[in-house]
Amino acid sequence: MNDVKLAVLGSEGVGKSALIVRYLTRRFIGEYASTSECIYRKRLSIDGRQLNLELYDPCSQLCEGKSSLNEQVHWADGFVVVYDISDRSSFVTAKAVVHLIRELRLGATKRDMDSVVFLVGNKQDLCHVREVGREEGQRLAAEAKCQFYELSAAEHCQEVALMFSKVVRNAGLN
Ligand code: GDP
Repeated sequence: MNDVKLAVLGSEGVGKSALIVRYLTRRFIGEYASTSECIYRKRLSIDGRQLNLELYDPCSQLCEGKSSLNEQVHWADGFVVVYDISDRSSFVTAKAVVHLIRELRLGATKRDMDSVVFLVGNKQDLCHVREVGREEGQRLAAEAKCQFYELSAAEHCQEVALMFSKVVRNAGLN
């Protein structure tokens, strides 16, 4: 059975825990009070193959520091880098994180980073107070060669599941 390790990264408050909980339980939990990092484990079947998924959520711990990111980047097979479309500073962090992932993994043995780094603009339901345009997200994804999604953990159960299934499938193939 394959093990697939995913790191969900981004500034505090962008909805990392909400996205993970939505994917794993299909529920949206408004206030998820977790203050320490955690790893969620789930056994999955994708394309008829059994997978052990480990999802790393740094929770409120900052992931901007290069040393902790370095560990996460080498631990993980795939990455979901999240920003909040209503918070420009979270986009600036996401930009730094996707570029660091590429820089840290350059020359690493695991191949094909393009299919396993996903940039996600969360809280699309807050588009009336949007600070980051969809095209800016698309541009960053094209520049950093990653997949791009804009969605809402609060409202899009199906899209969240599809996004995670895709990154898990791609990371499991690598
Ligand atoms: P984390 O620190 O990145 O893990 O963020 P959380 O998952 O704890 O979410 C931070 C806050 O954003 C909480 O109040 C969530 O209810 C809220 N939140 C998460 N996702 C969404 C979303 O898609 N839409 C809206 N409106 N709020 C969200």
